[in-house]
Amino acid sequence: MEYFLNEQQKTIKSLARRIAEERILPARAELDEKEEFPWEIIKALADADMFRVFIAEEYEGLGGGCFDLCLVIEELSRACGGIAISYAADALGCLPLIHHGTEEQKEKYLPDVASGARLTAFALTESTAGSDASKIRTSATLEGSHYLLNGTKQFITNGGEAEIYTVIAMTDPAKGSRGSSAFVVEKNTLGFSFGKKEKKMGIRSSATRELVFRDCRIPQENLIGREGQGFIIAVRMIDRSRPGVAAQAVGIAQGALEAAVDYARQRVQFDHPISSFQAVQHMLANMATELEAARALVYAVAKTVDSGAKDYAEEAAMAKVFASDVAMKVTEDAMQIFGGVGYMRDYPVEKMMRDAKITQIYEGTNQVLRNAIALEVLKRKARRE
Ligand SMILES: Cc1cc2nc3c(=O)[nH]c(=O)nc-3n(C[C@H](O)[C@H](O)[C@H](O)COP(=O)(O)OP(=O)(O)OC[C@H]3O[C@@H](n4cnc5c(N)ncnc54)[C@H](O)[C@@H]3O)c2cc1C
Repeated sequence: MEYFLNEQQKTIKSLARRIAEERILPARAELDEKEEFPWEIIKALADADMFRVFIAEEYEGLGGGCFDLCLVIEELSRACGGIAISYAADALGCLPLIHHGTEEQKEKYLPDVASGARLTAFALTESTAGSDASKIRTSATLEGSHYLLNGTKQFITNGGEAEIYTVIAMTDPAKGSRGSSAFVVEKNTLGFSFGKKEKKMGIRSSATRELVFRDCRIPQENLIGREGQGFIIAVRMIDRSRPGVAAQAVGIAQGALEAAVDYARQRVQFDHPISSFQAVQHMLANMATELEAARALVYAVAKTVDSGAKDYAEEAAMAKVFASDVAMKVTEDAMQIFGGVGYMRDYPVEKMMRDAKITQIYEGTNQVLRNAIALEVLKRKARRE
């Protein structure tokens, strides 16, 4: 389908595809097997100005928005969902600074993010606070001109590898979610260390790690926005980054479809390529149709985000739910088309299926997002009555 990309978008997309094909495809299986963070590929992305895509021009970026970012994430995910999420998590990590940071914070951090010199990460989740993010316990206590951070964040993408962390912590626990605030914390700050590194089913080249704060002193000027805005900043920034997870799902599904088509054309059984069997053809037809529907929804939502619309939470949730379910289905069908070899690690589709699963879980599980969508649907009906 033609999506009428402008010249800059076409350039960004083809650059991302080139890096995916030349650098990621040959390395993805080994990085996955060794659970190794893809530093060389991150450097190649930085050299190609890919980290500038989502940063404003005044901070040395290219001034692209959610749609441009989705194009890059999709292309990288077509080759490897794990490498793509390391890139996408960097965008999420700096979103609170982009949209709620002071001028000083933006000038201090964003040019380094744009050049790819420093990666970022976003830290909300804790062992007691997953879907119910209001239950975070990490505290930030103001003492003179500094905040003291105490607590542990769990499952943080780019944890340990990033240099800049945006962290949500409680400044006034008595107020519940209205008592949380957002902070920027630099790696190597005294009292900030890294805990358990997770061993994962998929996206294994990405780093997922605990962040541990023990009397970690950060200057008062590291507060992002105002005290009490932490939860709203977190929710809004995740709404904004959710189309990126949906784009990751679309890219993974695209990679799986292409692999399945290639395999179906060359695998011969009963003296015919299996692509000549209608049962296989119908699977390919459904995979292609659902994938295109997911892509169209993701692009439409990303453009809505970029339009300056105030509220796109429902649409962003829809894109993430739909695209991630499609990715799971398409990768599963791709494995079915590969038959027995699809189950083996020598072929890429088992990795794609492992990578696809996480898109149904992070940045809001699909059940929790369906709750949110249903709430909006019901509210709309009630308003009309
Ligand atoms: C690989 C990976 C990377 C991640 N990266 C980050 C990151 O960079 N930063 C960050 O802050 N977090 C990150 N997360 C955390 C992620 O966003 C959470 O895991 C996710 O939001 C779900 O929370 P949970 O794991 O605690 O599951 P739970 O909230 O415990 O949910 C368990 C199950 O209960 C269901 N459930 C819970 N509540 C409801 C409800 N009200 N209605 C219906 N069903 C419900 C869920 O859908 C799920 O099926 C990451 C997680 C993973 C696995």
